[in-house]
Amino acid sequence: MNLRPAFFFDRDGVVNVSPGAGYVLQRADFHFSEGIIESLAFLKTKGFALILVTSQQCVGKGLITQSILDDIHAHMQEALSKHDAAFDAIYACTCLASDPDCSCRKPSSEMILQAAEAHALDLTCSWLIGDHDRDIAMAINAKVPHTIRVLGEKPVGVAAEHSIVATAQLPGLLKSLLH
Ligand SMILES: [Mg+2]
Repeated sequence: MNLRPAFFFDRDGVVNVSPGAGYVLQRADFHFSEGIIESLAFLKTKGFALILVTSQQCVGKGLITQSILDDIHAHMQEALSKHDAAFDAIYACTCLASDPDCSCRKPSSEMILQAAEAHALDLTCSWLIGDHDRDIAMAINAKVPHTIRVLGEKPVGVAAEHSIVATAQLPGLLKSLLH
């Protein structure tokens, strides 16, 4: 079987503008970050499977239902499709951080390993981009070798292979790395 490389994307603070301490609770709160649509479209032309891996504890907290989260993602995918930039799959951990039975919350590798199995991905040549220590730690735990960190207010405890200060720099970085 031919395995594909994947590019894993964290959502809040990477794909869309960070909602800060809160959550994206409706379509209208979801705003694409600068450079993201262009980056996704570019990666698609390079043959990467595009996989969203996101923690949405807001569902576990009862702030929104699973169907509202699905609606926000459908809205995102519809907008991306117009640019041939839609995700191939979306994995969301909706558990509470305090849930002792949760095995999927980052930095667990579970969402990445599930995606690898379901979509025949070659993790040995895959990438992850995130804006938090637990995103980069998740890649390390899943043995995804290439990582990019979007720097922000969050302190860096787990170093990534590459860092950018804003997603607007992502298209340029990807074009220099993946020519
Ligand atoms: Mg994030």
